[in-house]
Amino acid sequence: MRRTGIEFNRHDYEYDVYSLVKAFIPEEEVVSFYSGETPAGDFDRLFRVLYGDGGYTCIVEEQGGETLREQVELASPEDRFATKNLLKQTVYRMFSELTCRTLPWGTLTGIRPVKLAMHPLEKGQDRKEIAAGLRDTYFLSEEKTNLAIDIAVREREILRGMDYKNGYSLYVGIPFCPSICLYCSFGSHPLKKWRKRVDEYLDCLIREMAFTAEYFSDKKLQTVYIGGGTPTSLTASQLDRVLGEVATRFPMDEVREFTVEAGRPDTITEEKLAVIRRYPVSRISINPQTMNQETLDLVGRGHTVQEITGTFHMARGLGFDNINMDLIVGLPGEGQEEVAHTLEQIRELEPDSLTVHSLALKRAARLNLFRDRYREISFANSQEIMSLCEQTAAGMGMNPYYLYRQKNMAGNFENVGYAKAGKEGIYNILIMEEKQSIAALGAGSVSKRVYPDGLIKRSENVKDVSHYIARIEEMIERKKHLLCDC
Ligand code: SF4
Repeated sequence: MRRTGIEFNRHDYEYDVYSLVKAFIPEEEVVSFYSGETPAGDFDRLFRVLYGDGGYTCIVEEQGGETLREQVELASPEDRFATKNLLKQTVYRMFSELTCRTLPWGTLTGIRPVKLAMHPLEKGQDRKEIAAGLRDTYFLSEEKTNLAIDIAVREREILRGMDYKNGYSLYVGIPFCPSICLYCSFGSHPLKKWRKRVDEYLDCLIREMAFTAEYFSDKKLQTVYIGGGTPTSLTASQLDRVLGEVATRFPMDEVREFTVEAGRPDTITEEKLAVIRRYPVSRISINPQTMNQETLDLVGRGHTVQEITGTFHMARGLGFDNINMDLIVGLPGEGQEEVAHTLEQIRELEPDSLTVHSLALKRAARLNLFRDRYREISFANSQEIMSLCEQTAAGMGMNPYYLYRQKNMAGNFENVGYAKAGKEGIYNILIMEEKQSIAALGAGSVSKRVYPDGLIKRSENVKDVSHYIARIEEMIERKKHLLCDC
């Protein structure tokens, strides 16, 4: 594998530069280090980002090849936003020239690109002005520029009427799954090992719920999301207990959306769906990820294609009229043909929304840890595949309504949520736009307090279930500290 080293002489913008370089050369090993350090091994290419005399000098030295040099003059080095943009623009130009590649998202390496369209939109800029800003400042392709603006416009419409001052959203995490998928990076816990402690976990979850309900008693609950893990990995009576506690402890009259992520089809039964139907749940998710059995087996999903279609029809039969399905593109061994097959099967099922994820090989995922074992299998994604998903969603009457990016995504693309009008996942948008406070309960959840001036403070619960149980009082204290500024 080719190696590129990035040398910095200052602890600034390292993550931004590293991410952008890595986006240009995902197939290479990229190592960053500071001047004076001696990194292990040789480099095929050395990129030096050196600060001095009120600016940066960027130099690329190819082993046995040419040297490129660009100077970044800074009018005001203390303006971090402008400095970062100038530096990233320079890195982009140099690596675009070196690799003869362009990146659809230009210089952007963050996870919320739609925010960059939303801000000028809220300030009253028209479409043409916003597009010019995205292209000139961040070098976005025309396709991604239009996508970001379309979604910003739609999000704004969907969020109209949300109360950011007195309203809040509730997240309840069930961190258990029947088996752990090969690509999982959520830190979910295998049920086989944890089954005996699930009730104990739920006892703690309900204590956290009791505190939150009391603390927010004068606020308006607007969306509820039961996620995980896989909430339906609970038994029907455990699920009944959780939903019952939510529905009785919190006021439901102002709730615009109540989602239960059923998730893995191998956990869904008619009994559990009937339990969910007894509560004011408005939206569920049944997630195939792919409709190719070979891939499902390879990534350890532990269910069949027939189980996906069977549980989907079962849910429809029980009256669920807002069903989302999640897909992943870039799964091992899957190219355009396999994705086309999946999309065709999804089209026949006619879900109400579709969320398309580009596989992100996060460090924690076993798929990445054992990547050598899968070396001969491709991890492909392409603009053609993303466009195919978009066209299929459009063919089902769906529009893109939310979008986010992750680190290490296959092909450097994005995750997009498509939905029929009125069937969008409002909670998904709130997570991305960060406009409303979210009280998040359970192991690994992150609560967010959004202040009127836009300041955001967070409080995290520990990820490990046994730590969460042992330290539940501390988790409640953390939440109290976040919510009441004490
Ligand atoms: S279903 Fe989701 S949370 Fe559970 S193991 Fe698979 S990827 Fe992880």
